Amino acid sequence: MIEKHIPVMVEEVIFYLNCRDSGIYVDATVGDGGHAAAICRTLGPDGFLIGLDWDGAALERAAERLAKFKGKFILRQRSYAGLSEVLEEEGISQVDGILLDLGVSTLQLSDPSRGFSYQQDEPLDMRMDHRLEKSAADLVNGLPQAELSRLIYRYGEERWARRIAAGIVSTRKKSGPIESGAALAEVIKRAIPAAARRKGGHPARRTFQALRIAVNGELDNIEAVLPQAVTTLRPGGRICVIAYHSLEDRIVKRFFRKRSRRCSCPPMVPCTCGGDGELIRITRKAVRPSAEEVRDNFRARSALLRAAERSVLSSEEGA
Ligand code: SAH
Repeated sequence: MIEKHIPVMVEEVIFYLNCRDSGIYVDATVGDGGHAAAICRTLGPDGFLIGLDWDGAALERAAERLAKFKGKFILRQRSYAGLSEVLEEEGISQVDGILLDLGVSTLQLSDPSRGFSYQQDEPLDMRMDHRLEKSAADLVNGLPQAELSRLIYRYGEERWARRIAAGIVSTRKKSGPIESGAALAEVIKRAIPAAARRKGGHPARRTFQALRIAVNGELDNIEAVLPQAVTTLRPGGRICVIAYHSLEDRIVKRFFRKRSRRCSCPPMVPCTCGGDGELIRITRKAVRPSAEEVRDNFRARSALLRAAERSVLSSEEGA
């Protein structure tokens, strides 16, 4: 059975985005349209939403869910890494709010044909956008051992990365390519010590996370979109990001911190510290979902929400 995607921290998103009825908003990861529908509900006759997702199937579901808001939104099949370009194409120069709800949706995870799962006998794919060049199977069966180990360690924060990479390479040699999620999960299970298998969730979780991040270039995309988001926000506009693991959250946290620093150079000398106070952090610490929400929605358990506002001052100074 395919589960439904339940949007995470919807009330918090509307609150932190400071949704106004005449605002223009971007939902850069529109997915199944859960947050987008909530944003559309707050919009008056002049309000508008642009929804992006690089997964065509997700956009179809979003279009259905948003049908009742016809005329209030447009959807585009694009990566959010091209945010500025998409907005330029649409003739939009500034927006009031941008939402990024990172990661994969429940439907992507549970659809066996997408190959995200470690329980399925389906091909190991993990591409959120079918136009991406390399699938998870290409990486697992093509990368040299040292690179595999590095990838699993870096993107999975997996302490047994070396053993797992060695296990993958020896299986490849002995029995040929590893084709399915279930087969890879089995290799991982065998590679790590028995005691470690019993702790910290499914033993393959971290490796699968690592492959997903690598296949989809997830961290690079986040790095790419954040500066574009800042320049497209109008002064006073807000960006709200929901991350699902520490690697994603760290990028957002550092970026918000860096861009909210004010210049500390002495007056009359050119600035070398790079602090221009472009952003004001609205959340000091990441906001977590309530215990109640986590109970009702498994995907919410690891959510970390951060929000920042484009400062009025810096855009005046920069003008
Ligand atoms: N907020 C949505 C769920 C988002 S799930 C809802 O309420 O329904 C995350 C979505 O981000 C997925 O649909 C995934 O395809 C999309 N995504 C991930 N990386 C992306 C990228 N670089 N560009 C565009 N969409 C991306």
